[in-house]
Amino acid sequence: MLFSNIRGISKTGCKYFSTSSVSNTNYGFIGLGQMGQHMARHIYNKLQPDDKLYVYDTVAESTSNFVDEVTKITPANKDLLVPLHSIGEFVTNVDSQLEYIVTMVPEGKHVKSVIEELVSNYKNHSDLTSTNTTFLDSSTIDIPTSVEVHKYVKEQINHFDFIDTPVSGGVAGARKGTLSFMLSRQSHDDIDSSLLSLLQKMGTNIFPCGLDHGTGLAAKLSNNYLLAVTNLAVADSFQLAKSFNLNLANYAKLVSVSTGKSWASVDNCPIPSLYPQNNLPCDIGYKGGFVTKLTKKDLVLATESAKLNDRYLFLGDISRKWYESACEREDIANRDLSVLYEWLGDLEQQNKSLVDKKTHKNVKV
Ligand code: NAD
Repeated sequence: MLFSNIRGISKTGCKYFSTSSVSNTNYGFIGLGQMGQHMARHIYNKLQPDDKLYVYDTVAESTSNFVDEVTKITPANKDLLVPLHSIGEFVTNVDSQLEYIVTMVPEGKHVKSVIEELVSNYKNHSDLTSTNTTFLDSSTIDIPTSVEVHKYVKEQINHFDFIDTPVSGGVAGARKGTLSFMLSRQSHDDIDSSLLSLLQKMGTNIFPCGLDHGTGLAAKLSNNYLLAVTNLAVADSFQLAKSFNLNLANYAKLVSVSTGKSWASVDNCPIPSLYPQNNLPCDIGYKGGFVTKLTKKDLVLATESAKLNDRYLFLGDISRKWYESACEREDIANRDLSVLYEWLGDLEQQNKSLVDKKTHKNVKV
């Protein structure tokens, strides 16, 4: 993006740039997995003729598959897309320096290594006086690592920024471009218009969560704690209904208009064939979706962050035990979280020692 260097400081201290003189924007995207491939595709599809998108994944095949697929669907933007072969190339192999680089990688350690490599390349190979890059991390990672990376970026290149911009909406939301973004900004006024425009290419809801770095992740982890707990409760509730020999289809419909209604019980209902129009994971053997091991990861992040915040999560440890136990089975760990319904059923069948029938006390998790 070519700025005429019109900069300012908002009331809350966030830097903003006037975009009145914007002529082009160069984007980078790192991590073309389940989520990233769709998010990057939306950016690609909405590129303006002078924009460019540079993409990279450690798995070379993911990068080449991405390029093949998106250019087949939208050939008109083909020349605006550049696959890269290393992190360093985001600095050394670009026509002009990038304004935004989005990371969508698994964990904090990946974010840290990617950003450190980028910063080191910027310091060694670019003219920092004419470069202004904002790193957006949409991965779900632990807050301390994100704060550490933010501090590192600011210490190394003060006018660069690193913003936590985690997302909610799952793979379906990423595919449709309807993700919700949570970011550490005080209000919508503090979100630079070019940043807003980038986020709106990939999502529909943008939630500023607070002034301090990490507040976007704090909101994300609080939400995903709720998701993990309600998902477990939904699986348990449907198994309870089954044990009463209730008609599960009727029960699920009843829940959908009753007080037990939640995303886990309706939008991601674990009972197959009820909502065929919604392409739910339960209708394809619980494949795809938001996999159980990622739910467990977020639950662990939430419980650990709570501890650091001197906050005890009443359902944290018990839910965590159940998710850890579920993830010992690869076929459960790698399927959508709604598969917990099936898993609880299996447990009841296979592990008769699970519940001491006389005392109704859990004896083994
Ligand atoms: P994924 O494993 O499918 O994709 C991650 C991608 O990052 C992979 O393609 C991997 O090869 C690549 N990668 C790893 N390290 C890299 C590095 N150093 N440089 C470049 N690429 C690297 O995971 P995902 O489901 O796309 O999730 C990504 C992040 O988004 C995670 O933090 C996850 O918790 C979060 N998230 C996932 C969902 C979901 O429904 N899957 C929803 C919201 C948030």
